[in-house]
Amino acid sequence: MDKNLEINIIGAGLAGSEAAYQLSKRGYKIKLFEMRPAKNTEAHSTEYFAELICSNSLKSRDVLKSSGLLKYELTSLNSFLLETAYKFEVPAGGALAIDRDLFSKYVTDTLSNNENINIVREECTEIDLSIPTIIASGPLTSEKLVEELKKISNNHLYFVDAISPIIDADSINFDKGYFMDRYGKGSDDYFNLPMSEEEYDKFYNAMLSAEYINFHEFEKLKYFEGCMPIEEMASRGRETLLFGPLKPVGLEDPRTSIRPFAVVQLRKENSIGSAYNIVGFQTKMLQKYQKEVLALIPGLENLEFLRYGSLHKNTYINSPKILNSNFQCIDNENIFIAGQLTGVEGYLESIMSGMISALQMDRFLTGKSFIDFTDYTAAGTLSNYVSGKLSTSFDRKGVFTPSNFHFGLLPLFEKKIRDKKLKYQMFYDRVVEVYKGINL
Ligand SMILES: Cc1cc2nc3c(=O)[nH]c(=O)nc-3n(C[C@H](O)[C@H](O)[C@H](O)COP(=O)(O)OP(=O)(O)OC[C@H]3O[C@@H](n4cnc5c(N)ncnc54)[C@H](O)[C@@H]3O)c2cc1C
Repeated sequence: MDKNLEINIIGAGLAGSEAAYQLSKRGYKIKLFEMRPAKNTEAHSTEYFAELICSNSLKSRDVLKSSGLLKYELTSLNSFLLETAYKFEVPAGGALAIDRDLFSKYVTDTLSNNENINIVREECTEIDLSIPTIIASGPLTSEKLVEELKKISNNHLYFVDAISPIIDADSINFDKGYFMDRYGKGSDDYFNLPMSEEEYDKFYNAMLSAEYINFHEFEKLKYFEGCMPIEEMASRGRETLLFGPLKPVGLEDPRTSIRPFAVVQLRKENSIGSAYNIVGFQTKMLQKYQKEVLALIPGLENLEFLRYGSLHKNTYINSPKILNSNFQCIDNENIFIAGQLTGVEGYLESIMSGMISALQMDRFLTGKSFIDFTDYTAAGTLSNYVSGKLSTSFDRKGVFTPSNFHFGLLPLFEKKIRDKKLKYQMFYDRVVEVYKGINL
């Protein structure tokens, strides 16, 4: 394949910037479209590439944590954005926090001065299927491009991301509840945590006095879209949750035959039951308060989050119907999609998907076989997640839901490892072995 062939990359955010750098390094000519500053999104505030729109933290450096493992893998793959992040880090304990302006300016200058990259500061409104293209226009993709995406995605697009917390099964006290589906129908997929009136009131009052992330002005429409944060329901009165996610009807405690005052339902996130989703608990509570408030639920006193709850505006495609596990469109092989638009959540995950899409596009264009990241790595897990290979890719109604990378998505070991630290060390060791075999 001719390496002078031009590749279009739409969006110079985290995914698009990483992809542009990787492909330019491999000799391709890139046309990188970025609509800012002529047309802005609702959340970006500069004209720089790879702008971090909210927090300036890329989270933990510890390889025994999911964000640390992602960093290890990005470093192994020679990530330009992660290397740049380390150049501009600011003190933040065990986390990697960065000076966001210096970071983004450096990325912008480096890509702008790259002779293989032609920067086009324009809103891209059409996708030419005959040109190899990576679409990385992010969660705030412009409306005109959304119309174009509807065509290639067969209208499989979502606009709001409502995420319930996911917790580590090992942190649940299973003596405090019972497996049962409402009215005894189904195959006991839910683990129910009953609450007395007194316990409920304590939990309810703590929820009301917690602190929340403010909605951006542009996100307020979501109240009309039927995915309400739990605290918003709670604010409508003490009883509201008892008719919503904490409804006890049909969940009489089989041990006593008594109907509890309230019931919190947990649903297995994967077939092995190593992670549980707290059903209906999408929330804007600050993470510190999620920890405090949810620990008041009997059985969750020692809960450990694999993913915190959240709720925000987010344009994303129904990836399992559109992408294979190389971030490539099943029906249009020239087109790859990367970043938050595919249903990965988070800065590092977006960078990683930009990286994977670039590496796999190079393989595709040069007729080589795709890189096999295996099921054990964060890269492989994200690829499997967006292509719907994991049961966890879908919610209980079978709807694809975005996710960050967390340890609950990784395959476990044949033998149950009770010691958490040892288990995470074994996750890491397994990843190191896989990367030894990856030829870039
Ligand atoms: C409000 C908000 C806050 C977030 N906060 C965090 C956080 O604190 N921590 C975290 O880990 N994750 C956060 N995320 C999630 C996610 O990590 C970021 O959105 C991340 O920037 C996604 O990377 P991306 O490359 O997919 O998209 P982006 O970084 O948004 O890049 C997409 C780029 O495409 C451009 N673009 C859009 N449409 C067009 C078009 N038609 N033509 C040309 N260019 C176009 C945009 O201007 C943008 O520069 C947040 C998301 C949102 C929406």
